Amino acid sequence: MEDPPYIRNLDGEAIYIRGDVFVEQCANGSACFLCAKSRSDAESEFDREHVIPQWLLRVAGLHRSTMTMPNAQKINYSRLTIPCCKRCNRRLAREFEDPISKSRQKSLLHLAKLFANNDYELPHKWSAFILLKLAIHDFRWKRDVSKQGSPMLGSFYDWNEIHHLSCLARTAISRFQIDPDAVGSILITEQEDSEFDLMTNMDPLSLMIRLDGLCLISVPCDGTYAAKLHRDLIRRLAGRRLSGFEQMELFCRYTSAASLLKPRLVFETTADGIIRLCDRVPFEFRPDKAELKRAYGRLLDYHLKMRGLYDGIDGLQEITVLKGEHTFFGNELRPFMPTS
Ligand SMILES: [Zn+2]
Repeated sequence: MEDPPYIRNLDGEAIYIRGDVFVEQCANGSACFLCAKSRSDAESEFDREHVIPQWLLRVAGLHRSTMTMPNAQKINYSRLTIPCCKRCNRRLAREFEDPISKSRQKSLLHLAKLFANNDYELPHKWSAFILLKLAIHDFRWKRDVSKQGSPMLGSFYDWNEIHHLSCLARTAISRFQIDPDAVGSILITEQEDSEFDLMTNMDPLSLMIRLDGLCLISVPCDGTYAAKLHRDLIRRLAGRRLSGFEQMELFCRYTSAASLLKPRLVFETTADGIIRLCDRVPFEFRPDKAELKRAYGRLLDYHLKMRGLYDGIDGLQEITVLKGEHTFFGNELRPFMPTS
């Protein structure tokens, strides 16, 4: 028997939204993307939810800065918003933004401990929430803005995975349980500067946020495959503060590992309140090294070009600063620095 389209709580909020209904009604902005309240029923109760949280824009001084979208258009960070009902807006702030921003004000160590609580549950859900908002935002942007009839950016995304993100973010309302197998790779490292940076990838889904002295990398739909594949590399880096380029390299390594997982993992959220992985993660699968290098090289090439840092070299397969085999931008690896 097919699952019901919604299961609502006593306040009428959807704690469960079936995948196809989520895409038809929530992702296109006609209903709140979290509780499925219709905009036509409660227009006055709607607000604009910032894709990048306001406190983060303030801390990083980004209100006037621009971000490059996947269609190469630049958009001001403060204009990066999606509709959301006021109640969900406040609730998600309490769930994610308030504890993270307050913890960050106390100390870096405090924030690192908050992230590590309950097996990294908070950064897992928070990164899913940000990626979900980005995907919904991209549903309103053409892939090629100069062409009439060009499909929307969001129409190229894997909406089964994005529905999974919505189920993770919606646990703030539903209090559904996340099965331990349904989490993704999370990596938190210390960085040698306090720069802000945000990098995202929509296929496969991944996100990197550099803030103050910490860097968070999340690949929410890989069942921890990237983390296990790169376990030895991460062990070698333990206790080191990493440069911005090294963090970018790790982000591309994690994302490219997840990109070779074929077929993609399938997740489900059942009406009985469990978010689970339907398959098993093929941890025994070791991608061909040349294929992994090519996937990593393509991704790094793409992100460097998007930032105007690099004009491309045909056949780029691997640049690594982490192994000390090559240097890039002339930055030699720093000596070992103990973490405080
Ligand atoms: Zn709502």
